Amino acid sequence: MKFWPVPHLMVDSIYDVSAETLKDFGVLLLFIDVDNTIAPYSDNKVYPRLSEWIEGFRKKGIEPYILSNNRGQRPKIFAKALSVGYVGKARKPSTKTLKRVLEEKGVPRERAAIIGDQIYTDVLCARLAGMFSVLVRPLSLKNPLLAARYGLEMPFRIIYKLRQRRSKRKQTP
Ligand SMILES: [Mg+2]
Repeated sequence: MKFWPVPHLMVDSIYDVSAETLKDFGVLLLFIDVDNTIAPYSDNKVYPRLSEWIEGFRKKGIEPYILSNNRGQRPKIFAKALSVGYVGKARKPSTKTLKRVLEEKGVPRERAAIIGDQIYTDVLCARLAGMFSVLVRPLSLKNPLLAARYGLEMPFRIIYKLRQRRSKRKQTP
């Protein structure tokens, strides 16, 4: 369902998603959120683990690309440090910017994915564009507004878990 923002894959951290997994789903282009996905809001540093994770995708032929709603310098800072393309002020869940990038790259939507920490921006954006979506747990919820938003997203996280449980039960004879 297009407007039903349940992710295709839900994991704790970006480091739980390997290039091999996404390759199996046929992904060629990976849109990556910045805030609370690859770094908490308060941290602009790029750690070796993040660079290695990004490099892992390149090695498997998946292009990492930063797609962030942040209006400041953070998308640029991370994109430069990781040598990836980027768009800031992307206005997710609007799919406008994302579609432009897909067109520029000549990648069909079925071969692209989004990874991010928010249901109503990242996952919904992927769903609206007909793309694969990966949801991670936000890195920091110290800000009460972020914590409240996380609470509002909870039903969709629970639905994902219930579906997983059901499909596992079906698989066991
Ligand atoms: Mg985010």
